Amino acid sequence: MADLIHLLPDHVANQIAAGEVVQRPASVVKELLENAVDAGATEIELIVKDGGKALIQVVDNGSGMSETDARMSFERHATSKIQSAEDLFELHTKGFRGEALASIAAIAHVDMQTRPAEDEVGTHIRIEGSKVVSQQAEVCPKGTSISVKNLFFNIPARRNFLKSNSVEFRHITDEFHRVALAHPAIGFRFYHNGSELFHLNPAALRKRITNIFGHRMDEKLISVEEETQVVRIEGFICKPEYAKKSRGEQYFFVNDRFIKSPYLHHAVVSAYEGLLKPDVHPGYFLYLQVDPHSIDINIHPTKTEVKFDDEHTLYAILRAAVKHGLGQFHLAPMLDFEKDQNLETPYAYRNKEAHVPGISVNPGFNPFEESSARFPSHGGYHKKSAEGWENLFVDLKSGTERQESFSSVHFESEAVTGSMFPSSDGDEAGEGTTFQLRRKYIVTTIRSGMLIIDQQRAHQRVLYEKFLRSLTVKESLSQQLLFPVSLDFSPNERHVLDELSDQLNALGFVFEESDDERVIVKGLPPMVPEKEVVSVLDQVISEYGQGKEGNLSQSDMLAKALSRSVCVKTGDRMDKTSQLALVNDLFACKETLLSPFNKPIFITLTENEIDNKFK
Ligand code: ADP
Ligand code: MG
Repeated sequence: MADLIHLLPDHVANQIAAGEVVQRPASVVKELLENAVDAGATEIELIVKDGGKALIQVVDNGSGMSETDARMSFERHATSKIQSAEDLFELHTKGFRGEALASIAAIAHVDMQTRPAEDEVGTHIRIEGSKVVSQQAEVCPKGTSISVKNLFFNIPARRNFLKSNSVEFRHITDEFHRVALAHPAIGFRFYHNGSELFHLNPAALRKRITNIFGHRMDEKLISVEEETQVVRIEGFICKPEYAKKSRGEQYFFVNDRFIKSPYLHHAVVSAYEGLLKPDVHPGYFLYLQVDPHSIDINIHPTKTEVKFDDEHTLYAILRAAVKHGLGQFHLAPMLDFEKDQNLETPYAYRNKEAHVPGISVNPGFNPFEESSARFPSHGGYHKKSAEGWENLFVDLKSGTERQESFSSVHFESEAVTGSMFPSSDGDEAGEGTTFQLRRKYIVTTIRSGMLIIDQQRAHQRVLYEKFLRSLTVKESLSQQLLFPVSLDFSPNERHVLDELSDQLNALGFVFEESDDERVIVKGLPPMVPEKEVVSVLDQVISEYGQGKEGNLSQSDMLAKALSRSVCVKTGDRMDKTSQLALVNDLFACKETLLSPFNKPIFITLTENEIDNKFK
């Protein structure tokens, strides 16, 4: 039998290995920025075109490389940073594997100019797919400039796998933020398609954070400091009331290296216990310094995880430090005359009653008008209910009689909406109408038995279809705000909003540009209550940020995000009018069985099933 096994040619092996290190343009950005930091640069420039697909260039004023080193740096396992395995336990640099440049050169066109300060001329070297195309002496500035073009030119499958420029750009921005936050003493600039996005001068940490995320971040930060034998912690956490729906600004750095740690994250979040509204995430920028011997970062070239020797102790210290920070911030307002209510009662313990339900009574409601608004607080919701669905009602009498009960419900609910009566939970089902069960389900009778509808999911479905329709028809109904709302966003969030601006306009959002960080909202879709605008946009940005594109269109994503945040929630009280309107609207939907998130909307209990329970 013939031999089957052979060695892969080098260039093939290199491409495969490269895949480990270089997954997308952002991986190149990370490696090049880290090399510049390791080279002792005090100024670093990042220049990117088309989400990094066309160009990624990093220019630094660091140590530069000699002619031989310039050539060597592209060899696999060539590094100046460690000599022996023991050095792995004393790491003070970002890189140490000597793989990055080799990997990048294997799958792109690389052009490098480099000169150590003490040399008069530098080296210019060009490499394409691991092959050196040219190398020559050249006059160039001190430091190193590397540009990487045509990423994955020789692996079309990988190139096709890349996401849209804007998604890749967002990943790059994330990496840029991480490196820039880890090294506030280094100056950074970042250009994308010719425009300068960030110009960060060397600064103290707090300033660096606000330079990146907007100066309005300043008032949100609480400083955290703790020094023990195991770890030194410093940095900032965000005040609880600024916690966001998106996970946005959560950063851990260990020995100046960005890391992800669900475990430490838990420690931080648990310190906020009782201070956060449900479903929001606190921001934090926490810097841990530990003995390099006590961690292992040697897990995977591209992974951001770290193994700590004594995680449990770290957890406890971190949690205590954050609690301490929060506590200090809580004590301070005691001296003020005007106390912030939010500080007195933790959100989790606050009476839910304070939350105004998304649905209220429309005083102009006219039950005899077919097209009157069903969801008053959500604005002109005009839709005829599906013919035929009402036939499901058992006791539905003549049309007029139903109308009567309808209007009496209306008056009753106006009077009762206050806190005079405890809740609508115990309301009787009435004659073929509806009642609300545990502020969660709408129960109604149908010919064969009863129907139990999940109010939140039903409303999500109704809104989702409504939003999708506005997006496709571009009918752009908008409710003008008497007093435009001004909102702060980080540059990143602004970027997402800009990207979605067409669709958001189609939905009825009217924005007015002001400066980089501030967006002025002048109009809203009729279904979006004004007080929800922040959380709605937050939700949209966060869902968009999770890059759930692919098969899902942007419109679909938007309609989902909006329906999720605007809908009636479990726990919201709904008056009879709204209950019935919701039921009608649900059954006028194209899809009635599943919520936009594929959850069942209602169940039926047939008379038979009920009978069986009595057997
Ligand atoms: P590693 O960073 O793991 O050592 P790399 O492939 O990223 O491996 O880089 C290989 C070597 O090239 C580095 O060890 C360093 O000596 C040199 N090098 C890379 N980038 C720079 C730079 N911007 N300035 C100076 N030297 C650099
Ligand atoms: Mg490196």
